[in-house]
Amino acid sequence: MYDVVIVGGGIVGVSLAYRLAEEGAGRVLLLEKGYLGGGSTFRCAGGIRASFTSREHIVLMKRSIELWGELREKLGVKYERSGYLWLISRERDVERFKEYSRVHNSFGVETRFVDEDFVKRVAPYVDTSSMVAALYDPLAGKASPFDAVYKQFLAARSLGVEFAVGREVDSVRVERGEARGVVVGNELIPARSVVVAAGAESVFLLRRSGVELPLAPVPHHAALTEEFGRLFDPLIIDVETGAYAVQTFHGHVLMGVEVEEEPFARPVVKLEFLEKVVSTWSKWLTWLPGANILRYWVGYYEVTPDHHPILGPVDGVENLYVATGFSGHGFMMAPVVAEELAEWIKSGKPKSEEAARLTLARFKEGRLIKELAVIG
Ligand SMILES: Cc1cc2nc3c(=O)[nH]c(=O)nc-3n(C[C@H](O)[C@H](O)[C@H](O)COP(=O)(O)OP(=O)(O)OC[C@H]3O[C@@H](n4cnc5c(N)ncnc54)[C@H](O)[C@@H]3O)c2cc1C
Repeated sequence: MYDVVIVGGGIVGVSLAYRLAEEGAGRVLLLEKGYLGGGSTFRCAGGIRASFTSREHIVLMKRSIELWGELREKLGVKYERSGYLWLISRERDVERFKEYSRVHNSFGVETRFVDEDFVKRVAPYVDTSSMVAALYDPLAGKASPFDAVYKQFLAARSLGVEFAVGREVDSVRVERGEARGVVVGNELIPARSVVVAAGAESVFLLRRSGVELPLAPVPHHAALTEEFGRLFDPLIIDVETGAYAVQTFHGHVLMGVEVEEEPFARPVVKLEFLEKVVSTWSKWLTWLPGANILRYWVGYYEVTPDHHPILGPVDGVENLYVATGFSGHGFMMAPVVAEELAEWIKSGKPKSEEAARLTLARFKEGRLIKELAVIG
């Protein structure tokens, strides 16, 4: 009998495995149907920020940022507080971002408007000729998804967590309102607690187990250029389109922009994305049309109706926990999600009231949470 079985080996599942192991939570097994990180995690941009507009996002992300720092100290995970820079080219966006900044500041996230000289210092290869204002977030940063998964996996395994990679869970066994374990082929793997951290696919897995999640996988596209020397330190955002670009630890530029996609659509590459991402970023990165694009891929955002995650216990099914629906922010949130879930499993309640408000029950009870600062 396992104490905890985790379904899904993305950043969330692996972070939770490591956290449980550190806290001595007993026998822990993680099952991953493909390879660790092979879902949305290795397709993500690695951006980390607390500059949101909802209390839940800000408070939890601030704590996550502290925990990212601890992961760097303890495991040597590649993580940097290199900032976020919101580039504004239309006067009409300035007031909106002033309001966002007031919200951030009221929660101790010290975003501030910066001048052209500052932008040139932190982002020497960004052209500022169309800039009317820029908001800088010094607390934000980036981490390497590969490094974060791999180092936490090694640490968790050395602390005794078992990893079953290449094993797909068919369903969670629920009997008399209680999760008893997970079903893999003909086998029942018994567990005291089951955590579903299966990313976009959580919706299908839980449906087979009798639980409906208000969750839609929505394809998002990203492209990667060749390697350069230092171009810009912060993750940069084109406020007009919501496009983002970040320089990876190796020097590649990873860029995304929203193109029209239907929920549940198959993730397929589209030429229009490449055209749009290059033309959008050419406004700020004037050298981009001459750069080589090395890779282009599509992954899922696991989107909920209020763009906040679904965390914690499932009403009506004892011992079953969920951690998904991050709506594009699951990488940055993983360390705090691991901390909150480990506490929930151990003591029956999370550490923070903000996490407590993110349970599945909020949809039934009509307690949706508003977030304005979602980027493509
Ligand atoms: C282009 C793009 C850019 C992004 N940029 C950012 C960013 O900058 N910052 C940020 O915070 N987030 C970002 N995200 C979102 C982020 O990638 C996700 O929110 C995060 O990776 C979710 O992690 P996860 O562990 O919940 O899910 P996943 O990484 O999807 O992991 C779930 C795992 O579960 C496995 N699985 C599924 N079903 C089963 C089953 N039945 N049995 C066993 N295993 C199963 C899958 O194979 C998968 O490996 C981005 C996403 C995309 C697509």
